[in-house]
Amino acid sequence: MATYSILREWAALPRTGDVMPVLFVGHGSPMNGIVQNDFSAAWETLGPALPRPRGVLCVSAHWITHGTKVTAMDSPRTIHDFSGFPRELSDAEYPAPGDPALAILAAETVGLLGAGALDHDWGLDHGAWTVLRRMFPEADVPVVQMSLDWDAGPERHLELGRELGALRDRGVLLIGSGNVVHNLGLVDFDAPGGPGAGYEWALEFDAAVKSAVLVGDDAGLVDRERLSASARLAVPTPDHYLPLLYAIGARRPGDDALVFNEAAVGGSLSMTSYAFG
Ligand code: ZN
Repeated sequence: MATYSILREWAALPRTGDVMPVLFVGHGSPMNGIVQNDFSAAWETLGPALPRPRGVLCVSAHWITHGTKVTAMDSPRTIHDFSGFPRELSDAEYPAPGDPALAILAAETVGLLGAGALDHDWGLDHGAWTVLRRMFPEADVPVVQMSLDWDAGPERHLELGRELGALRDRGVLLIGSGNVVHNLGLVDFDAPGGPGAGYEWALEFDAAVKSAVLVGDDAGLVDRERLSASARLAVPTPDHYLPLLYAIGARRPGDDALVFNEAAVGGSLSMTSYAFG
């Protein structure tokens, strides 16, 4: 079967000894994909500093499905899933290739190959491409997206991250793309931004998450309302928070943790991002 010959191809890839890092990236406004600011500058710095990935597997806040899906097309389209932004953003394309073999491997790794997980309709949404076009501007690293299963609880998302962590030995860069604090209903873009700025509850939740990440309190991260009473305001819907759990699941004992882009924008969005490796 073609499927399994592709899997054998992947399995035959040498272990280079370079275990790929795993990232959680706060993506914030889609404009970060085209404007120059501290956040996009950090992505531009990070991309070339990483071991060169064979492929990227990105779990974006902006792809929510029933059951887990994995993009399996050769050439994923650039999805402009936003409105009210300048034409320059709607015209931006990120023509990175897909990687059907990686899609199959990812689906197999989480036990969903043959369960209808392979998707041929999605593409790269702005949670993926706005970040990746800054990290890998040549669009020469294949990208596969994995969806968020809306019917799964946080513990399941953490478990999926644990399973996907095995791909770090195969040259795959795992990226969860969301925002730790994401309350668009309360966002105020006139509010001052930058380190230390933001609503008190936003800063409190972001700090509680950072502490839990740094001490390895995975259970606290799964049960965020126990972690902090500010969770209800900081995470009114779980879509932007859940990608963090994939990165947490995929990290390994002994990984160093790098915190970057630690700042709030609009009072109620945090860009705080993590790299483990
Ligand atoms: Zn978003």
